[in-house]
Amino acid sequence: MTHNPLAPSWLVEPDDANALAPGLWPSTAARAESGELQIGGVSAHELAQQFGTPLYVVDERDARERAGEVREALHYAFAQIGSRAHVYYAGKALLTSEVARWMVEAGCRIDVCSGGELGVALAAGVEADRIGFHGNNKSLSEIDRAVASGVGTIIIDSIQEIDRVAEAAVRHGARQRVRLRVNSGVHAHTHEFLATSHEDQKFGLTLEAAPDAVARIRAFESLEFIGLHCHIGSQIFGSGGFAESAARLLAVHKELLRTGPVAELNLGGGFGIAYTSVDDPTPIGELAEAIARIVSDECELLRIPIPDVAFEPGRTIIGTAGVTLYEAGTTKPVDVETESGTKTRLYVSVDGGMSDNARTALYDADYSVRIASRRSDAAPALVRIAGKHCESGDIVVSADYLPSDVEPGDLLAVPATGAYCWSLASNYNYLGRPPIVAVRDGRARVIVRGETEADLMARDAGLDGR
Ligand SMILES: *Cc1c(COP(=O)(O)O)cnc(C)c1O
Repeated sequence: MTHNPLAPSWLVEPDDANALAPGLWPSTAARAESGELQIGGVSAHELAQQFGTPLYVVDERDARERAGEVREALHYAFAQIGSRAHVYYAGKALLTSEVARWMVEAGCRIDVCSGGELGVALAAGVEADRIGFHGNNKSLSEIDRAVASGVGTIIIDSIQEIDRVAEAAVRHGARQRVRLRVNSGVHAHTHEFLATSHEDQKFGLTLEAAPDAVARIRAFESLEFIGLHCHIGSQIFGSGGFAESAARLLAVHKELLRTGPVAELNLGGGFGIAYTSVDDPTPIGELAEAIARIVSDECELLRIPIPDVAFEPGRTIIGTAGVTLYEAGTTKPVDVETESGTKTRLYVSVDGGMSDNARTALYDADYSVRIASRRSDAAPALVRIAGKHCESGDIVVSADYLPSDVEPGDLLAVPATGAYCWSLASNYNYLGRPPIVAVRDGRARVIVRGETEADLMARDAGLDGR
């Protein structure tokens, strides 16, 4: 089969454009006898009928089990080296009260990075001391609220923040546990826009600046220094970046031990998931073991006790649990001249777009797509799934193959949209943000309702009372 030059080099025409590639879909996703996609025992058709499209569907069982699996894997690997691992679910990936409870019930703590996220976690009943609070520019009132509510740790991101947190702690008669965010200088292998540990960036302090900053923290009675924190980026495959980062951090960790206790080391999040059939993320058990081994080896080399460690996975816990359902609208074969002649790309427009999934436009992210409402024997066609916004960059799935008879009214499913889709959603072009529905054991329930036109107009002061 010759490769379609309009398709990216990694995308191979599948034998069966109905197949659900392993690793991309929630664990309960399957095609029913009828050919229809089911998630959590609920058919795509039923979901669309009941809740409309676009629709964020979250497989509750998958999310809970994955959270447990990630926590267990890290727990186990670090127990093997005589240490303990704490797992903070990175709330920014997808935070609703329901999701927060699933994470807590799976044994995870919760990371938040704004007053709003903190508010949701607290309202969901998450114990404050199981919350980590991030951010490079926390406001004074956010700091005050975090300290007042008793959050477990605040991740300090600048020199100014040391004094701010210390003062808030004094005000509330608290001794606030804090970490210090640093950059290890490790460039995670990822898209430039996603990397957050380059030196030329807004987060954290350099490793060289850490000892003075920690001395300053320790000078405050109202602060308790817990350890260093580093997040090397996102959608990382393999353990190499974590290993290198851990080694660099531990060298400074050792230096800090000379002047006081350092209980923990926080290695951040960033474990990658599969968005397309060619993505092959390392199993979490293997990653956990490899990172534990490097931490153990490095501590032995440095002759320091192995600290407790903390991780902050988001995407790897919730990403694959989510699927977005759309209804196909207009289709448009577009002929494109290439060196090997005229080739056709079939544009399929859906009833959502960059407002419910900004990642393709924002990061050039790759996604996959399948027809959810039926199976088809039609030959595969190269498609591009476009949204309905007034923007040519409004693409949901840049390239995949679908049965060529895909037509208006078909339901389409885009997998791996559990993380950073709803949380990055907007009302661009006055589209209401879709609801999130949790499915489990044949039942579906709304966990966040969708926005109505009335919601969209409610804050327009010129429409007061209408
Ligand atoms: C975004 C972020 C995470 C989570 O990243 P994932 O790629 O979703 O695992 C964890 N920690 C920090 C500090 C972050 O900014």
